[in-house]
Amino acid sequence: MEARHHQVPTDEKALLEELSSAFRAHFGEKAARLFFAPSRINIIGEHIDYNGGNVFPCALTIGTYALAAPNEENALRLYSLNLDAENTATLPLNEEKAPDDWTGYVLGVFHALEQKGLKPVGLDIAVAGNIPNGSGLSSSASLELLCGVIAEALFEKTTDETLTRLDLVEAGVWCENEYLGVHTGIMDQYVIGFGKAGHAMRLDTAAKQHEYVPLELEAKGACILVLNTNKRRELKDSKYNERRAECATALKELNRLLREKGEAPREFLCDFSEDELNWLDGLDPVIAKRARHVITENARVQAMIDAFADSRLEDAGQILNDGHRSLRDDYEVTGPHLDAIVEAAQSAEGCYGARMTGAGFGGCAIALVRQDAVDAVIAHIKKIYAEKTDRTAECLISLAGDGAGERVVAAN
Ligand code: ADP
Ligand code: MG
Repeated sequence: MEARHHQVPTDEKALLEELSSAFRAHFGEKAARLFFAPSRINIIGEHIDYNGGNVFPCALTIGTYALAAPNEENALRLYSLNLDAENTATLPLNEEKAPDDWTGYVLGVFHALEQKGLKPVGLDIAVAGNIPNGSGLSSSASLELLCGVIAEALFEKTTDETLTRLDLVEAGVWCENEYLGVHTGIMDQYVIGFGKAGHAMRLDTAAKQHEYVPLELEAKGACILVLNTNKRRELKDSKYNERRAECATALKELNRLLREKGEAPREFLCDFSEDELNWLDGLDPVIAKRARHVITENARVQAMIDAFADSRLEDAGQILNDGHRSLRDDYEVTGPHLDAIVEAAQSAEGCYGARMTGAGFGGCAIALVRQDAVDAVIAHIKKIYAEKTDRTAECLISLAGDGAGERVVAAN
C-alpha cells in the first residue's frame, strides 16, 4: 500500500471540486466525464468467496471517483489525487510486467478488457477516493471497477459482442489474481460491480449469481457501523495466498476421504456441510481449523439472511460474534487491533454484535447497532479502543450504495 500524500475530502461535493481542479491542472481545460465505483463491506461470509460459498456483502456510498477525457497523445495519462502521482503509459500497452505502483490496478483491468474487445485509446484520467486509507474496504477493487466503467464508456469496441457487467467484474479479478498475483476471490469486484442502494446481496460465488436483499435498517431501528482500527493490513497478500493454499489442501484431503468411501469428489470446500464437520477429525489440525471456519461461515450466511428477513437483530448480532470468533480462532486472520475494536463494540450497551470485515490482519470491523444508541456506542468504542491499543478508532455509519457507473453530472 503506497503512502498517501494528500488528504482527499470525504464530503462528495468538496472532493469533486478538488478532483476537477486537479484534472484541469494536469490535463488542461476540457470537458471530462465523471465515473464512480463504491467500496464495500461484507456483512457475513468471510474468506469463502474462493471456496464456492455464499457471501452477504453490500456496496457503500463512499468510493473512488474519476474524471476522464480523450487525449491526442496516444497514451494513458493517469493522475491520483490521493497519492499526488502522475504516470503515463504509452499505447499499445505491453502486458509483460505489471508496474509495482498503483497503476498496476488500472493497466491490469485495461489489459483484461482488451482481450474482451475494448481497445485502449488515449485518455486523461484523474482519480480520487474517499475510502479510509488502508482500511480493507477494498479500494483496489473500487479502482478496478472504476477503470472498467471508464473503458466501457471510452475505449474503442473491436467486437460486436456486448460486454456484460460480469465481464467487468472478471477483468478486475483477473487483474488482482493473474496480473498482480493476489489470490483474492470474486466478492469485492462483484458487489462493487452489481451493488444496489439500500440493499445487500446474497452472492453465490460458485454460480456467480446474486439476489438482492433489502436491508431496511431504518425500519428495523438499527444501523451498521464501520469501525476502522487505523491499523493497516500488513503481510496481507502473502497470508491471503497462504490461507488459499490451506483451503486447497483441505479440499484435497476431504476428497481423498470421499474417494475411499467410493463417493464422487466435490468441487468446493463449501460443498461440505456442518453435518460433515466430523470428517475434519482425521486432518492435520491447522488444516482442519481452516476448513471448519469455511464450512461454519457458509452456514452463517443463510442464518444471517433469515435473521435479517425476520428482523431478529439479536440473532443477527450473535451470528456476527460467532463469525468473529471463527475468524480469530480457526482462520487466524484477525490480530490484536481487530480483536480489540470488536470486543469494545461487543461490550457496548445497544450493540447487537460485531465482527471484522474484509481480509483481516487490520482494516475494519462492522457492528450492528440500535439506532437510538449509536452516539453512545461510538463514544464507548472510541474510549475502550484508545485504552487498549496505540490507535484511535474511526466510526462511520455505513450506507448501502449503488454499484460502479458513470455519474450524470460532470463536475467541471
Ligand atoms: P484494499 O483493502 O483497500 O483493497 P489493497 O492493498 O488491496 O487494499 O489496495 C490498495 C491499493 O490500491 C493502493 O496501495 C493503491 O495502489 C491502489 N489504490 C486504491 N485507491 C487508489 C486511489 N484513489 N489512487 C491511487 N491508487 C489507489
Ligand atoms: Mg484490495
